[in-house]
Amino acid sequence: MSDVHVLGDGCAAMMLASRANELNGHTLSIVHPEGAPLPRDHMLGFWATPDLEFAAQQARHAWPNWSIITEAGEAVLSSKSHPYHVMHKMHFLEHARAQAEEHGVRFIDQAQHDNTGADIVFDSRPPRAPANAMLQHFVGLEVEVDKPVFDSNTAILMDFRVDQSHGMHFMYVLPFSSTCALIESTMFSTTKMPREYYTEAIETYLFNHHNATVKNVVREEAGVIPMGRLSLHDPSIPGLGANGGAIRPASGYTFAFIHQQIQNGLNGHHHGKSLAFKRPHKRVDVWMDSVLLAVLRHWPHQGPILFGRMARSLSGEEFIRFMSGQAGWRLRFKVMMAMPKLPFIRGVSKMMFSRPRKVVS
Ligand SMILES: Cc1cc2nc3c(=O)[nH]c(=O)nc-3n(C[C@H](O)[C@H](O)[C@H](O)COP(=O)(O)OP(=O)(O)OC[C@H]3O[C@@H](n4cnc5c(N)ncnc54)[C@H](O)[C@@H]3O)c2cc1C
Repeated sequence: MSDVHVLGDGCAAMMLASRANELNGHTLSIVHPEGAPLPRDHMLGFWATPDLEFAAQQARHAWPNWSIITEAGEAVLSSKSHPYHVMHKMHFLEHARAQAEEHGVRFIDQAQHDNTGADIVFDSRPPRAPANAMLQHFVGLEVEVDKPVFDSNTAILMDFRVDQSHGMHFMYVLPFSSTCALIESTMFSTTKMPREYYTEAIETYLFNHHNATVKNVVREEAGVIPMGRLSLHDPSIPGLGANGGAIRPASGYTFAFIHQQIQNGLNGHHHGKSLAFKRPHKRVDVWMDSVLLAVLRHWPHQGPILFGRMARSLSGEEFIRFMSGQAGWRLRFKVMMAMPKLPFIRGVSKMMFSRPRKVVS
């Protein structure tokens, strides 16, 4: 029996723990790390592809339609078979923990881990980002508004009709009913804004584009997701989850990729390979995302045009495949052809001539 320890008890660690019964010949311990912040709930969004059915069962809401809105108009995409879902992270973690306990997983603190001498260790603490990394930063408010203005069948993934003067900025709107929605003011840039910037942007957006005012704030969530090339939390320990390269560089979506990473690792293990978790993205997708990030870093005003064009050029199913890392060459080519060419040529040249930056956090 090999003793496997996972540092961290977030999504990736707990997803693996919930499947500990598939780890033949291994015992698993989940290690609560020293210096870990108090766990905070937030919504986790994903398209319910067949491999994520287990998560869809725990979702709070699902939308058959999703849209991207720019000043030029709205693109609405749909999928009846793979709707967009969200679930509470804490609900997912609690459910996974119950399954893990049934499989005999141990939960320990880092001091116990340091004294144990595990055979194999994976690290799911957050990865480190280079100085001046592109960040996806956001504040979300779950609000009740004064009149029924939301369409609870359509999630708005990006509504760009907001202030663009500090970087690419959009609203992510998840309506749970006609009067209740999670609204996130989200930016892609290198610098976080003060909390009031996002909350005021949400109120202005609701007033200008939904003719509604906030009656009650039910919940607040906030996040900073580093985008692009990241480094291991500790270079001597192989990563898992976000720390194992699961964050999709240009979108920040991670949950679906954590599942792919763990599934691939378990498949290899079932075929007699030693347990290992690789970055779940294809090289070409990482490269395309890097070019997109270079464009958004230097010419953020291109963001609404690029995402608007992409949404208008794809069907709902194609959009899901592209966002979930399941695109083939035909689909990648379709996305490339939909994009304005000059910004991408300039993005590639910026990438080639920019120097790597020191890792800071
Ligand atoms: C507000 C918010 C919304 C998000 N929405 C989505 C979404 O809709 N869809 C999606 O796919 N992804 C989303 N993400 C990304 C999401 O974080 C990942 O999907 C997922 O949580 C990553 O899992 P993980 O196990 O790699 O990291 P985590 O779940 O973050 O776990 C990290 C572990 O490291 C520990 N840790 C953290 N900091 C330290 C530290 N300084 N020292 C020691 N230990 C530490 C934590 O306690 C935890 O045990 C969102 C993130 C945030 C913050």
